[in-house]
Amino acid sequence: MTKAEKNMDISRRQFLKISTGAIGTAVAAEAASFGVDTSAVQARALDVPIKQGKQVPSVCPYCAVGCGQIVTVSDSGKIIDIQGNPDSPVNQGTLCPKGAATYQLVTNNLRWTKVKHRAPGSDHWDDMSLDVAMNRIAQLTQQTRDANFNETQDMPDGKGGTVTKRVMNTYAIASLGGATMDNEWNYLHQKLMHALGVVYLENQARI
Ligand code: SF4
Repeated sequence: MTKAEKNMDISRRQFLKISTGAIGTAVAAEAASFGVDTSAVQARALDVPIKQGKQVPSVCPYCAVGCGQIVTVSDSGKIIDIQGNPDSPVNQGTLCPKGAATYQLVTNNLRWTKVKHRAPGSDHWDDMSLDVAMNRIAQLTQQTRDANFNETQDMPDGKGGTVTKRVMNTYAIASLGGATMDNEWNYLHQKLMHALGVVYLENQARI
């Protein structure tokens, strides 16, 4: 461990110790004022193992807020934990629900690794090879775009009439991004969609 890593490790641990202690005390006092016994919860919290490994500062990949993260890596180089970085002035150790789930982006036994396809009229999903799926999507995209492409469009001219403008777009295709699309993917994706003339372009992230 380098001196810088050691310093970061100490300050992070100190921060967590101080903040969890202060929060725990405050929550316990608040709960006690309502007659709630939190001793079992506090005892369980002490049993939760702290993941040990090399701590690597990183940045959440998901949105432009740029929250700092600490990626904990085992001796074998495997990511074993990802948490908010208390030293980051952006998020001060916090992460939104999306950022807090970053670990599952790399490690998730429930994640599907094959393309699923449900044929028209079918009541179940079948596995499809990635090559077949990509070709199918490309064919349908071109077919839909060619059949619905607008080179020009009539628009109000502001004087009660219309004016014909060159638009080069299609309203027949929409793109809706998902939570696991990171900044770089979204940048390239909007470039591709705009090149195709897609107007309805959206991503679910609303931070
Ligand atoms: S997705 Fe959440 S945790 Fe990640 S940078 Fe954006 S606000 Fe921060």
